[in-house]
Amino acid sequence: MMAMRASRVARAARTTTSTRAAVRRPRAACGAAAGGDCGASAGARDGTGPWNTPPLALDDGLYAYLLKHTRESEVLRALREETSALRGSQMQVAPEQGALLALMVELVDARRVIEIGTYTGYSSIAMASAMREGGVLYACDKNEESFAVARRYWAKAGVSDRVVEKNGDAKVSVVELLEEHGENSFDVGFIDADKRAYREYYEALLKLVRPGGLIIIDNVLWYGKVADETLEDKQTLAIREFNAFVASDERVSYGMVPIGDGLSMCRKR
Ligand code: SAM
Ligand code: CA
Repeated sequence: MMAMRASRVARAARTTTSTRAAVRRPRAACGAAAGGDCGASAGARDGTGPWNTPPLALDDGLYAYLLKHTRESEVLRALREETSALRGSQMQVAPEQGALLALMVELVDARRVIEIGTYTGYSSIAMASAMREGGVLYACDKNEESFAVARRYWAKAGVSDRVVEKNGDAKVSVVELLEEHGENSFDVGFIDADKRAYREYYEALLKLVRPGGLIIIDNVLWYGKVADETLEDKQTLAIREFNAFVASDERVSYGMVPIGDGLSMCRKR
């Protein structure tokens, strides 16, 4: 399933004829999502009442259209190419997620950002590039091999001077950063590491991030597994439990966005 997603960006990038087909036939895409019925009666399927705006199913053609309208620098594109040959490439955030993360960083005029889970550096470059001069992004990861790739691309993107590596267990790094900078000292926190520790990272970021700042969490839809009640592996259970907790956590304003593998956006109150 993960490998399928990994190849999707490449496949979609090649799809031009089906892009045109998807754009010409919007109701077909709608029908795929709503079980063939785009009308209000679709709401009966989940018991939550009228479904006035059916969710959109992104087939390869429509996803290619989305990518075509996504801003991605040459450096990020090259990093995506290089990463595609590496183990764990499916872990990289999707281009449209990178663009959204950059926009969020810019919106809150972030000066200090913490990223938990850097891998080969895609999301860190997207965010660091959106910060103004003098901004600092703390990149937390425990994998020296992927840091080596990230380092090369930070240099190519011209953001090396904005990135501070925190190499080691991120559970330790967040405590160190709290001691070093104190509470409410960060503008944005992005969580994208070990799923079973999401709640721990979230609580740490609620301390680190200032009121009005953002906590953004990736993989909240977990390849669709969260909605399949028959699946009870530890990671799926952890994300399901985490999502239920955040949805009712009054300490944040919150929205879940079905982009990439699902991003939750929280604004600390
Ligand atoms: N955001 C990255 C990107 O855009 O390419 C992808 C991050 S990837 C999903 C998750 C990363 O978290 C991996 O590189 C892994 O080494 C790291 N990781 C997992 N558990 C960790 C931990 N306890 N402490 C630090 N890093 C961890
Ligand atoms: Ca991820």
